Amino acid sequence: ASFMFLVILGCQGPKSSSTEDSTLDARVDSLMALMTLEEKVGQMNQYNGFWEVTGPAPKEGDAAKKYDHLRKGLVGSMLNVTGSENVRAVQRIAVEETRLGIPLLIGYDVIHGFKTLSPIPLAEAASWDLLAIRKSAEMAAKESSAAGINWTFAPMVDISRDARWGRVMEGAGEDTYLGSLIAYERVKGFQGDDLSQTHTILATAKHFAGYGFSESGRDYNTVDVGTSTLYNDIFPPFQAAIDADVKTFMNSFNILNGIPATGNSFLQREILKGKWGFEGFVVSDWGSIGEMMVHGFAKDGKHAAELAVNAGSDMDMESVLYVEHLVSLVKEGKVKESDIDDAVRRILKLKFELGLFEDPYNYCNPEREKEITGRKEIRDAVLDMAQKSIVLLKNEGSILPLKKSGTKIALIGQLAADKDSPLGSWRGMVEANSAVSVLEGLTANGENQILFERGPLVFEGTQNFASEVKVNQQDRSGIQEAIRAARQAEVVIMVLGENGFQSGEGRSRTDLGLPGLQQELLEEIFKVNPNIVLVLMNGRPLVIDWAAKNIPAIVEAWQLGSESGNAIAKVLYGDYNPSGKLPMTFPRNVGQVPIYYNQKSTGRPDIPGQDMVFWSHYIDSPNRPLYPFGYGLSYTTFEYSDLKLSAPQMSNAGNVELSVTLKNTGGVKGKETVQLYIRDLVASTSRPIRELKGFQQVELAPGESKMLKFTIDEKSLGFYTPTGEWVVEPGDFKLFVGGDSSCEMNVDLTVE
Ligand code: BGC
Repeated sequence: ASFMFLVILGCQGPKSSSTEDSTLDARVDSLMALMTLEEKVGQMNQYNGFWEVTGPAPKEGDAAKKYDHLRKGLVGSMLNVTGSENVRAVQRIAVEETRLGIPLLIGYDVIHGFKTLSPIPLAEAASWDLLAIRKSAEMAAKESSAAGINWTFAPMVDISRDARWGRVMEGAGEDTYLGSLIAYERVKGFQGDDLSQTHTILATAKHFAGYGFSESGRDYNTVDVGTSTLYNDIFPPFQAAIDADVKTFMNSFNILNGIPATGNSFLQREILKGKWGFEGFVVSDWGSIGEMMVHGFAKDGKHAAELAVNAGSDMDMESVLYVEHLVSLVKEGKVKESDIDDAVRRILKLKFELGLFEDPYNYCNPEREKEITGRKEIRDAVLDMAQKSIVLLKNEGSILPLKKSGTKIALIGQLAADKDSPLGSWRGMVEANSAVSVLEGLTANGENQILFERGPLVFEGTQNFASEVKVNQQDRSGIQEAIRAARQAEVVIMVLGENGFQSGEGRSRTDLGLPGLQQELLEEIFKVNPNIVLVLMNGRPLVIDWAAKNIPAIVEAWQLGSESGNAIAKVLYGDYNPSGKLPMTFPRNVGQVPIYYNQKSTGRPDIPGQDMVFWSHYIDSPNRPLYPFGYGLSYTTFEYSDLKLSAPQMSNAGNVELSVTLKNTGGVKGKETVQLYIRDLVASTSRPIRELKGFQQVELAPGESKMLKFTIDEKSLGFYTPTGEWVVEPGDFKLFVGGDSSCEMNVDLTVE
């Protein structure tokens, strides 16, 4: 009955014009007028799915308390409740048993798919294919929304330059420009243009802010970055998410420059809701309000709740501190009721926009769930995305592509038959062991004779999100069998890398080599048959310096999701000509980390030909990475020529056109990602030695060439000052164009 009452309050029809906005505001206001302070605070409370929702109600302990809160209207959102029937069960309690019948937001980490998985986000970024990335998010929204989800905690838009940090798998890599474009597409993909449609869900830009810069790559660690880095490198992807109208933000576990992000009003009030005018709400990270006590920032739970809400955190994920303390904090005058109202208004508005007041069960339709889950359209999209995400790192003597029949292939490595690792971390509700393995993919896509040998056991038992990955450092069983198979074969394909749970949250590593005895296996096989194609399966850049020197062909296949083995086979057999480019620099050794292409110049850079000690270098390693950002080969070759500017000068409000000709000089059709980098030679704050400012993907037939044009304008040339103002300064710039971030072809531009 209460639900009916709210329907009467409401109005229907498409939104977006300002009258409709004001009607929406009026609906929120009239609902808020009915709410007690307790009920308002309840909207700011989010609980993890805490009992088997379709089973009997919990009678004791934490679950009973939370259940009681739910029935009293003191829960605004739940996470990790999935399946249309389960969601309906909790939604029913909220709508039918509470006084006002306000429906719940149902959140979930839909990171790279739900039941059908796309590649991990870092891999998708390697495609540089914005349309495919948007489509992938669209498919994930479709499949998860059919299971009752109306809110995803994605995209993670944290820039990171540190492969030791396991969560790089969840982001778009090291570059702010690419990361911003991808952030935009992912938000659009999840949210669509009309949130009341049941295949669209709220997106979350996370983790605000600085999480990707945790010291020494150790997860949850302290972050200290200057404001120039904050404004130029960390913030822009979040701003891009706002440009895409992202509805929610998540704050972050880390301390940023001394203040925990969760209690940081500079971040949440001054920048996000102030300067950027963000109108959605901010959810805390899991228990991050409570963690402020451990940070030595809040003296107890009540103090933590006070600091978080005053700093602009609108919803408490799982620390139970808002629901316990906010009412008394308001009564004591430590928290303004108007701040509570503001938070609740932001939350309720989105519930209206999702259409939950028109029909709280709009996301809970078992028939739709059955019809949509795993359907062909989704399967096709994840295969397409997986192919596009693969990066060819080396192909000496054109050993790839392989013939599809008549070849005796030794396929070696535990990961080659692993149907679970390709699913990666943050894997939604996918069934374990459900990916197409490389072994299955090679068998299904060709007719070669395949001799599979596991080699040593590297990953033991079944792995999962919540426990440490067990790596065996000793096992040598299987090495001899693998050697025997390699001896008999014409080509050896070795699938080596990380277990699916070795990257991700809480998975920092100090050693970025191949885990267990995989390196030894590689070297042993090389001795008997050097004709090796190394397929890497991993959630982050690895240190593979020995392989890069010795192994003729290397394919970076990340963790590619449900269709992994098919995508890899299609690339190895040449059905798909690889087109991916690295979204993160590959270091030679861990000592180089953090390593990234858009560094600043030291006062002592390398001067070729001079034999000096006192320059910025290591005495035991080159500065250069193993593979630079933006790098990736194809089965064809490309030639760049005729780099020209329409004028050598421009005013800082104008623009010029840059043109370049690209030719396919090889034997097969191929796709190249043409990249534009800019260097601002002298500025009021030192600028990076180059920065990506544009790219275009072009597919060319053998012998075909095409002229490409880039517009250079203030967006390509400006930067943020250390106080956050956008400026375009006159002076000299160098513009580089090529197939990766180390490209040398360039022209000069003067800005007046
Ligand atoms: C992660 C978030 C995630 C949340 C909910 C946290 O541990 O940092 O990214 O959205 O859990 O699962």
